[in-house]
Amino acid sequence: MRTTVLGAGPAGLYLSILLKKADPRHDVTVVERNPPDATFGFGVVFSEETLGRLRVADEPTFTAITDAWASWTTIDIHFGGELIRSHGHRFSAIRRTKLLGILQRRARELGVEMRFETEIAEVAELPDADLLVGADGVNSLVRRAREFGPRIEVYPTRFAWFGTDVALDAFTFAFVETEHGVFQAHAYPFDEGTSTFIVETREDTWQRAGLEELSEQESLAFCEELFAPVLDGHGLLSNRSVWLAFNELRCKDWSAGSTVLVGDAAHTAHFSIGSGTKLALEDAIELAGALGRHEDLQPALVEYELERRPIVERFQEAARQSAEYFEEVPRHMGLPPLQFAFNLLTRSGRIGHANLSLRDPRLVRRVDAFVGGRSALSPPPLFAPLELRGLTLRNRAVIRGLDEPVGAGLYLSPMVAVTPEGRITPDDPTDPGAWDLDRIHAAGGAAMLVLNHAGARGACRPRSEGIDLPLREGGWPLVSATATPHTRRSATPAALDEAGMDRIRDAFVAAARRGAEAGFDAIELNLAEGYLLSSFRDGDYPRSVVEAVRAVFDGPLAVRLGDGDAVPDADLVHVAGGKVKEYRRGHLTAASDRIRSEAHVATMVGGYLDTLDAANTIVGAGRADLCILEPAALT
Ligand SMILES: Cc1cc2nc3c(=O)[nH]c(=O)nc-3n(C[C@H](O)[C@H](O)[C@H](O)COP(=O)(O)OP(=O)(O)OC[C@H]3O[C@@H](n4cnc5c(N)ncnc54)[C@H](O)[C@@H]3O)c2cc1C
Repeated sequence: MRTTVLGAGPAGLYLSILLKKADPRHDVTVVERNPPDATFGFGVVFSEETLGRLRVADEPTFTAITDAWASWTTIDIHFGGELIRSHGHRFSAIRRTKLLGILQRRARELGVEMRFETEIAEVAELPDADLLVGADGVNSLVRRAREFGPRIEVYPTRFAWFGTDVALDAFTFAFVETEHGVFQAHAYPFDEGTSTFIVETREDTWQRAGLEELSEQESLAFCEELFAPVLDGHGLLSNRSVWLAFNELRCKDWSAGSTVLVGDAAHTAHFSIGSGTKLALEDAIELAGALGRHEDLQPALVEYELERRPIVERFQEAARQSAEYFEEVPRHMGLPPLQFAFNLLTRSGRIGHANLSLRDPRLVRRVDAFVGGRSALSPPPLFAPLELRGLTLRNRAVIRGLDEPVGAGLYLSPMVAVTPEGRITPDDPTDPGAWDLDRIHAAGGAAMLVLNHAGARGACRPRSEGIDLPLREGGWPLVSATATPHTRRSATPAALDEAGMDRIRDAFVAAARRGAEAGFDAIELNLAEGYLLSSFRDGDYPRSVVEAVRAVFDGPLAVRLGDGDAVPDADLVHVAGGKVKEYRRGHLTAASDRIRSEAHVATMVGGYLDTLDAANTIVGAGRADLCILEPAALT
């Protein structure tokens, strides 16, 4: 078989090694525009798991790489004038030229033909082959020449990839606030005297700082001054270190006929989780393996994609979350350094409270103590008490329903309609006094009454039959802010006039009073989810309802809100789900984080929290103050 590979980056070289190793009769030619010793950037970092696969795939390459790289286990976070160190992380890094040198040597040894300094302008210039591999990076010519259905998303940040002549002794994150905005550095050592130093900032900050106008040298000087405390007297090094925007690439197909893509040509993942080279090398392993297992090309290419795509997509998701974290980092600048550090370490969802407890128990104990406001023997964050307007909740766990005390700090009532025509279904409760709360109180829990008016979403069949299906019979007249039906099938509500609005406000007040008399410790008003109070475009009426309830109820008052809604004066925001794109664990956490940090208000969040670890991580990182647990979290 004859294979032509365009691109002598990690993916192209490693694939050619594995193909030639599997069958020395295999004719493999690699074509590369650069000379053998030229490369962009400085060092690349790998996480621990990459190593195992490399050893099995080709021991000599593995040994050469591991002999040459720098390994360390610490992450340093420079933030707010403090340095927080976290241990137990295990990274390795290698100079990119060194990695490519090792791969080139091995490829040469096995008889791969490598043509350097050969710029290809059209795929037709490449040697004929049975298989053409596009290993030509993110701007792949091969990808452009065939139908792969690429989708590129340009991230709203700018980064420059520098080096520095100091071997940092940790993976280092540094954050500097300037008059223009926040700049962050991601830096790591890759040999005994040098480190990679990537500086990143939001596009608007980059523009305000005038970096667009600066030369490469001037940019470098700007960044040197910014990060002088971390650089500790050392300078930055440039190697075509221009400011770039990161392109996240996904392809609908990874192969077309006898052409296949590997590495950055097929997909990219933001550099902040350091996985691009790992993914490129693993693509090569899988593609070489599939080609070895199948006589015919097509089944091999299909198997390669089927095996790799889900793994790559998982990494892309984690990388995207990490990238979004760095985009939004200015929001977190108000967090105390320790909590900021925990928030950063748990940003991509791959490390949580439990996992970090194994890696770095001392740091996690400090976080627990910080959230619990106590000394070293504090419980995990979910079990720290919370004070809300004079009410002390024994812990941060929230359970839906008032039936059975299970040790939670707070129990939510079902939604209680403040008037009979405010019910969603005929079975909805309308009496806040319908529950015996003694058992919950005896068990040390608190109870929250959730008040709602269904508005245009009223008079529906039970949820078990579907959402927003109007009653076939026995419906009642609906009201809303305007005479607009909720769905095409829904009945048209009457637009409320002033008197109607006053009547409903009074009904909220009366229900709140009745709830307080019945022993509820806290009250939530639903201002979201398409129900009545969210149907008012301007926030004046809902705000007036909150104020009227506030006037008669002095306990903790919560409002249920969607992401982006204005936050009225309340003690707690319950982050509402709304229409969810993807119902996965923690899908509301980012919204909660945003509301909490921007509106400076305590938040309560659900979003399929089915493990205590997820909740401990959320509370520990300051992304919410209370977590609504799924029943599965208690089993
Ligand atoms: C700022 C930054 C930091 C990063 N940090 C890390 C990290 O820490 N860890 C990590 O694992 N990854 C990191 N990456 C990603 C990593 O560099 C890539 O994911 C990896 O290099 C992909 O390997 P590849 O072989 O697919 O493509 P590339 O390394 O891009 O190689 C493609 C090759 O094809 C050649 N080529 C392209 N077009 C042509 C043509 N028309 N003619 C001839 N030759 C051509 C190019 O010259 C190049 O040598 C980082 C990326 C960036 C941008």
